Amino acid sequence: MKKFQVNEVGFYGAFGGAYIPEVLKPCIDELRAVYRDVIGSREFQMEFRRLLQTYAGRPSPLYLSPSLSRQCGGRVYLKREDLNHTGAHKINNALGQALLARHLGKRRVIAETGAGQHGVATATVCALFGLPCTIYMGAVDVERQRPNVEKMRLLGATVCAVETGGATLQNAVDAALADWVEYPDETYYLIGSAVGPHPYPDMVARLQSVISEEIRTQLLELEGRDAPDCIVACIGGGSNASGTVYHFLEREEVRIVLAEAGGEGLETGRSAAAICEGREGVLHGAHTYVLQDAGGHVREPYSISAGLDYPGIGPLPAYMAQTGRAEVVAVTDEEALRAAYALIRNEGIFPALESAHALGALARLRFRPDEVVVATLSGRGDKDADTYLKYATRYAAL
Ligand SMILES: *Cc1c(COP(=O)(O)O)cnc(C)c1O
Repeated sequence: MKKFQVNEVGFYGAFGGAYIPEVLKPCIDELRAVYRDVIGSREFQMEFRRLLQTYAGRPSPLYLSPSLSRQCGGRVYLKREDLNHTGAHKINNALGQALLARHLGKRRVIAETGAGQHGVATATVCALFGLPCTIYMGAVDVERQRPNVEKMRLLGATVCAVETGGATLQNAVDAALADWVEYPDETYYLIGSAVGPHPYPDMVARLQSVISEEIRTQLLELEGRDAPDCIVACIGGGSNASGTVYHFLEREEVRIVLAEAGGEGLETGRSAAAICEGREGVLHGAHTYVLQDAGGHVREPYSISAGLDYPGIGPLPAYMAQTGRAEVVAVTDEEALRAAYALIRNEGIFPALESAHALGALARLRFRPDEVVVATLSGRGDKDADTYLKYATRYAAL
């Protein structure tokens, strides 16, 4: 039994599990019974690999960054998930789960989205597979993320604005679950990160593990070795991080640094740092670290980056943090912005604000010249152009 593989009942140590309403048990049981065999099958892998290559544009390059190497001292590579179709790593997971939905004979797909990135990835693969698709989104987020909402509608998705509660991600998840409860037989719930009830976290990690598989092959070619000394990734729910570390988890010599959204700083009450500031609890069907107020209610998270603005964290990163396998740092909005401007100016790459948190973590690290470092650039920053413009005079010294 490998230490960082999920166990039979869906736990990584104390984290994970499947805390779901009784009516959804058959759906989750069905998924749990088949997901490993389906994903592992030759037929699935052939189709998945073909689509990753010819549709999503994989393998994504492993790019040696001169400016980050100078800054940190080692040989720093960026894993360029920003170059994928739809602009982030999310397409890997969406393609995989859509294939699974088709295999299970499901006739419709539902998803929830906060910033809209996962909604766009889901609407994209549903257009490709001809699957009707409904995306739940908080009404506040619908207002804040207009361009993504319009994209989803153009792709043929039905976008449902959820008016309940704070009208954000949390409420969108509840609405998606209510839909699933109502139509359990024909519906596939496509979760966008390594969160939710078992088997989702493990399934998403397996689908995203194409990232670490490629890193291994690419490092062998570029550096003559199959693992880096250090890996850096940002964590919202934990899918790009899980995929980036997957094949290195059991290799203790590989250092893992994960960057949470520190927002305006720890102890300001304005962060999304679930590991650094959360307490154990149950969120979205899993036992994990959750941002909570003194009364134990879920605290509204905050981050400049919409994709990291989530009050929980997947069970695998929670376990990696608790066992000391990963170092988790909270990177502030300001650190992320400064790191983003540096990459834009030095190398002409616009990182997503989420990915800029990984770069912010990197800015705190120093390495020996012979050390090899891989940081995952989870997505591209086109969607964040307004924010970059807004703060440019303050942080970019233009
Ligand atoms: C959604 C998103 C994230 C955060 O999600 P994870 O599941 O933690 O990877 C990070 N980067 C980008 C570009 C995203 O779109």
